[in-house]
Amino acid sequence: MEKYTKLYPNFKKKAVTFSFDDGVYQDVEMINILNFFHMKGTFNLNSKIMHDNSAFTMNNWLKNCRISKNNINFVYQNHEIAGHTSTHTDFKNLNDKLLKEEIDDDIKNLKKITKRNIIGFAYPYGIYNQQIIQRLKDNNILYARSIESTFNFNLPTDWYTYGGTCTISDNKFPSLVKRWLKLQPKNLKIFYIWGHSYELDMFHEHEKIFKLYEMLANKEDTWYATNGEIVTYLKAFEKLKYSNKNHTFKNNSKYDLYINYHNQNYIIKKGNSLKICQN
Ligand SMILES: [Zn+2]
Repeated sequence: MEKYTKLYPNFKKKAVTFSFDDGVYQDVEMINILNFFHMKGTFNLNSKIMHDNSAFTMNNWLKNCRISKNNINFVYQNHEIAGHTSTHTDFKNLNDKLLKEEIDDDIKNLKKITKRNIIGFAYPYGIYNQQIIQRLKDNNILYARSIESTFNFNLPTDWYTYGGTCTISDNKFPSLVKRWLKLQPKNLKIFYIWGHSYELDMFHEHEKIFKLYEMLANKEDTWYATNGEIVTYLKAFEKLKYSNKNHTFKNNSKYDLYINYHNQNYIIKKGNSLKICQN
């Protein structure tokens, strides 16, 4: 393949995305803030415990209730829904039965509830191994989030072990935002923020988060997308072929692809070819 630089849609080089776990009531508030700033996130849900009996308490005072099954499609309508195991398992006593119940069934249930394709996942407690990753791949899951933050903006080399840039409660989040805003990258970068929306209550962070999101939002050079939209778009480049013989790119994917080639920006429409004129 001839060397070209991948670009995000509309020739952008920066992408901001969010990921939140456990499907709690506070997701409604988090989504309100994201929607207000026209940003998008992915919400990782446990499909067999979407009811009031599965409430859990953090730090001995904060009771978190989970959004009930009937409200899932309304609450998450503009955002991605991804798997997080059926019952928030820690994968102890890992065996085929557990993998079936917690991964296969979770994906199947989420598809049924949402009538959407499910392509993402987040590991409860950040626990994963090759067997778990393989099981996700067998379920056509394209990426899974771990919990080790990178504190940088590089795209991951492996989408099944990536832990994002930082969490919403991390002390480094404000300084990372400042660094991000100054960044004028040569190639693709990602600011991937994750956490739990109950952290808003737990650490009294509403104002802080609102301000940081405001700083990140509405930038001309940035693509605001769900985790799945970003992974799907980047994966589409696997179907971009170049023929040396007639200097032609052929885009066999279902997405319009944006590239820079010899210092020139090109858009190669889905299913189309683009002949590059050589001067
Ligand atoms: Zn969780």
